[in-house]
Amino acid sequence: MAASKGTTVPGYRNKNDQVTVRATDLPGTDHLQKIYVLRCDSCKLEYGANGSDIFHRRCPRCGGGRPSLDYWHAI
Ligand SMILES: [Zn+2]
Repeated sequence: MAASKGTTVPGYRNKNDQVTVRATDLPGTDHLQKIYVLRCDSCKLEYGANGSDIFHRRCPRCGGGRPSLDYWHAI
């Protein structure tokens, strides 16, 4: 499948217009993944996602994607 190379770099944009904002130090819900903060370019929502999901992530609010992972306590 699609390579994950580059998807965790801030500024990366996937095919669904979800932009990588930054990494967190929190463990994600996938094996050996960290949570990354993404931003939806359509509705400007910021949310948490596994690094491995970035390339195909959809916005949880306007794109029908999975709910955001909880990262707020780490800010
Ligand atoms: Zn959105």
